Amino acid sequence: MKVPMLDLHAQYEALMPQIRIELDKVFANHHYIMGAQVKEFEEKMQDYLGIKHAIGCASGTDALVLAVKALEIGEGDEIITTSFTFFATASSIWRNHARPVFVDIDPRTFNLDPSKIEAAITPRTKAIMPVHLFGQCSDMQAIMAIAKKHNLKVIEDNAQGIGSTWNDQMSCSFGDIGTLSFFPSKNLGAMGDAGMCLTNDDELAIALRQLRVHGEGPKYYHKCVGLNSRLDTMQAAVLLVKLDQLASWSKARRANAAFYDANLSGIEGLTTPYIDPKALTIYNQYTFIASQRDDLMKHLQDRGIGCAVYYPLPLHLQECFIDLGYKKGDLPVAEEMANKVLSIPIYPELTQEMKQYVVDSIQEFYN
Ligand SMILES: *Cc1c(COP(=O)(O)O)cnc(C)c1O
Repeated sequence: MKVPMLDLHAQYEALMPQIRIELDKVFANHHYIMGAQVKEFEEKMQDYLGIKHAIGCASGTDALVLAVKALEIGEGDEIITTSFTFFATASSIWRNHARPVFVDIDPRTFNLDPSKIEAAITPRTKAIMPVHLFGQCSDMQAIMAIAKKHNLKVIEDNAQGIGSTWNDQMSCSFGDIGTLSFFPSKNLGAMGDAGMCLTNDDELAIALRQLRVHGEGPKYYHKCVGLNSRLDTMQAAVLLVKLDQLASWSKARRANAAFYDANLSGIEGLTTPYIDPKALTIYNQYTFIASQRDDLMKHLQDRGIGCAVYYPLPLHLQECFIDLGYKKGDLPVAEEMANKVLSIPIYPELTQEMKQYVVDSIQEFYN
């Protein structure tokens, strides 16, 4: 048996006829840039998330770059964020000439540890950028309280957590701006790159809409320098079809996780994912802490089971950020987790046999 980390064939099989119809509608009028489907998808996302403004853009990375720019954060400013995340979280800060300040994570949730944020605040701190890693919302109550006390902006990097909640409140609705990625491996994936900014703030929405078209407004007049970062019409057409499936996909991921939890929790040497009672997670990844992680990984790969390490090197130790002055040992929890975590297949189309095979193979290793 083979169990890939993700199976897009299975995901698209039933949807392709409808997607072809929707793409044909785009080909019928050739409005490839900012066609009607873009606005339609933005409005549908506003309804789905209950957030006032959805601004589509070219990727989740660009959504973060646009968010930092819209908040007018740049040279000489600092943004507090996590080191245990995908590269784009910090690169979006760097690319705006601001400085990412890394704070360690909670060893149970892998998210930014709110109790460590205040010690990192300086007169230059302008914002906090939490990441809802693997689909679990960060402790947004605690983070918003700190932001309010110190007059800081908040950008939620929600690339992995679309539809997740904290205390029954939707992720992306806590901070000033929330961002999404529609990279194909995310819970709602496009047929290529795509992303989105969400905000309840009318003025930030105007700024974001302007910044994604070169800072232009009115046409050919520029008050600031923005990006060329629009949500592609064809991607919007695809995402419109797929959005209808998102809730049931997230439910299936949670059911898969429950099966893994029930069957893996007794294994000595393995710690199943901790989900805070206040969080509803959507499991973009199912990530556990494993002793002899690298050997387990090889064991699973030898049995045809896809698995991956998210992420093997925390961002404060990346070569490109060497000038920030961090060294090994500065963020011990993030560094430890980089050596211990493993993610296994969790996608909605997994069959019972596949899940059982994954569980059996892990049990076999530890026995
Ligand atoms: C995927 C991801 C991004 C970037 O999204 P792209 O659409 O690939 O540019 C940013 N942050 C996190 C945490 C991600 O997982």
